[in-house]
Formats: sequence, C-alpha cells, structure tokens
Amino acid sequence: MIIGVPKEIKNNENRVSMVPASVASYVKAGHQVLVEKDAGLGSGIPNEEYEKAGATIVPTAADAWAADMVVKVKEPQVEEFKYLRKDLILFTYLHLAAEPELTKALLDNEVTAVAYETIQLENRSLPLLTPMSEVAGRMSVQLGAQFLEKIHGGKGVLLGGVPGVRPGKVVVIGGGVVGTNAAKMAVGLGADVTIIDISAERLRQLDDQFGGRVKTVMSNPYNIAEEVKGADLLIGAVLIPGAKAPQLVSEEMVKQMEANSVIIDVAVDQGGSIATVDHITSHDSPTFIKHGVLHYAVPNIPGAVSKTSTYALANVTTPYGLQLANKGIEQSVKSNQALAKGLNTYKGKITYPAVAATYNLPC
Ligand code: NAD
Repeated sequence: MIIGVPKEIKNNENRVSMVPASVASYVKAGHQVLVEKDAGLGSGIPNEEYEKAGATIVPTAADAWAADMVVKVKEPQVEEFKYLRKDLILFTYLHLAAEPELTKALLDNEVTAVAYETIQLENRSLPLLTPMSEVAGRMSVQLGAQFLEKIHGGKGVLLGGVPGVRPGKVVVIGGGVVGTNAAKMAVGLGADVTIIDISAERLRQLDDQFGGRVKTVMSNPYNIAEEVKGADLLIGAVLIPGAKAPQLVSEEMVKQMEANSVIIDVAVDQGGSIATVDHITSHDSPTFIKHGVLHYAVPNIPGAVSKTSTYALANVTTPYGLQLANKGIEQSVKSNQALAKGLNTYKGKITYPAVAATYNLPC
C-alpha cells in the first residue's frame, strides 16, 4: 500500500503523524511511505531522517494525499476537503461529533475514516488517547510551577519548598491518566500533593501506587471546598467518558483561594470542571486572572511539546496503522475488535453509534 504523511496545517499544530521508526516499520512490511516535504520540522525531524528510514519526500500536500492511506494527527481542515475521495483510508484524530462539516465531507466523498480517539480495548481504555493525557498531566505541573513564579503572575512559591520552608500544595481533581501523571511530577518536585477522585477503588489504587506520598480524598463538594482553599496549584483532571466535564469547583471556592494561586484546568477540552474557567485559552495567550487567581485553560496542551507528543503518538498509532496497511480495512476490522471501534465512516455511512446519534443518522 502507498501511505501518505501530509504536513499538519491546523493553527499551531507542530506534531506529525509518523516518526522515522514508523516509516521504517511500514517500509519493512513492504509499503511505500510518502512524506510531504518539511512535515516533521515542527517536531524536530528533518526530511533526511525520513529518507534514511526509507520514505520518499514529496513536494506538495496533494502528493501525500494521493496515497491509498493517509495517516495524520488532526482532523482534515476545510482546505484539505478537496483531497477526500472514495478509495481513501484516512487514519487520524477526527472528533466527528463536534465536526458536522467534516462529517458531511467524509460521507459525501465515501471516505473510509478510522478515528484514533474511538479505538477502544476490551477494558474500555482508549489507547490512542492515553499518551496525550500522559503528556498533558505531566505538563500541567511543569506549567503550574512556572506560573507560580512571581515573574509569571504567580504568588512566588517553589513547589518543592526548601529545608525549613514548607512545600507548595498541589490539589489534583480526578485521579485518572492526567491526574496520576500530574501527581507523579508534583511528587517528584517534592510538593505536598492531594488527589481527589469520586471512585473509592481508584483512590485505593493511588494510595498503593504512591506508597503514602500523596493524600487521597473522596470527591464531594465539602471536601473539594476544603482542599481548594489551601491549594497553591489546582489541577482539574476529571472525565466522565462521553459527557461534558462536571463542574466541581464553584466560583465561591475560587474566591477563597489565596491571591496569585494558579489553576490549570486540563479538562477544559470537555467543557472544564471549574466554574471560573468560562472560556478556553491558547498557547499564544494561555492565562487570565479571575478573583485574583491565575487561570490556564489551553485545550491542546500536548502541542506545546510537539516533539515528545509526536513520538508518544506514533508509538501507539503505528501498530494499528500497520494492520490497516497489511490487511486492508475489511480484514482489519474483522480481526481486531479494538480497531473496529475506530471505524467512523465507511461507504458513505456513519459506523460509530455515538457519532450517528449526534446527527440523527442510521449506523
Ligand atoms: P480518565 O478517565 O483517565 O480519568 C478521569 C478521572 O476522573 C477518573 O479517575 C474518574 O474517576 C474521575 N472523576 C470522574 N468524576 C469525578 C468527580 N465528580 N470527582 C472527582 N473525580 C472524578 O481521563 P484522563 O485521560 O485523565 O482525562 C482527564 C481530562 O483531561 C479529560 O477531560 C481529557 O479530555 C482531558 N485532556 C485534556 C488535554 C488538554 O490538552 N487540555 C489533554 C489530554 C486530556
């Protein structure tokens, strides 16, 4: 099969769908990989590295999109709709429930579209979303530590403290992938860390995992109010799969925080879990102040560390992409239940129930 890797064109998107190691795997399996010129530069991968791994560098997006299967990072942008066609397999993040125009374009052009975010294992985990949650969780503490510095608008607290001075207090709401990775970083820095979760089982696991280095607290409005009041850094990391994030931190609670404390609401991509986060921000202008507290609400945190994110994403997408290339769509879907859940559009029909329900279409 011929596989295309176009350069990402979404605003501020510096990731690329394949690293040289992925190219080498496809080529070893007998496929040809066409990488658009300079597609990897935003992630620090020069054209020559792809060539060394066996790719052919092609001059234009149209050349890469002419392949049998196109592997991308972000959903096709309007400017890319002209490349959609009947015999194309598209493998990328799609988030179709939020993309009516794109959904229509995929259906009208009968594209076979496999979405990273709906590939799901038997244990219900989403293996192609997990690495981005890991990145965002770890970044949230790095960002929080930076914004706590006086020069960046914070209260001037060093998360780790120093001998004789107490460490900063980090409160993480939601102890899933994002929350656990945030806690790891915060513990590593020597901060005083509390994780709040609604699942007693999850709190038990976290208590075991961190061997007493984090405090675990059951999620309820009373406990959240108590913990938020004393937080130097508050991290929002809740998720109810498929639903809008629950609003757990009220405006009143934020008002109780000390001036120049920091809130990083990672869950902002699902609507946010903190009442004062009433809009998303961007990497260009990431923070705003409300009730004297610095808020950070960027929905695509991994974009800030494009090189790490690119490698993390390619690590998990490549084995699935290889199956698609080796077996074709029909055999892949028959032989791999997880991959079958990724199929979102096929022969002009929606094939993922939640997306079909969004548009009141048959599935
Ligand atoms: P996850 O499913 O692994 O974890 C979510 C946790 O929230 C679970 O442990 C769950 O028990 C807990 N939870 C649910 N309801 C709760 C409540 N009422 N109180 C306390 N805890 C509650 O999800 P994840 O992968 O960690 O993702 C968390 C959020 O981060 C999601 O909204 C995800 O979309 C978002 N995210 C954002 C970015 C970004 O760049 N901003 C990147 C990756 C993920």
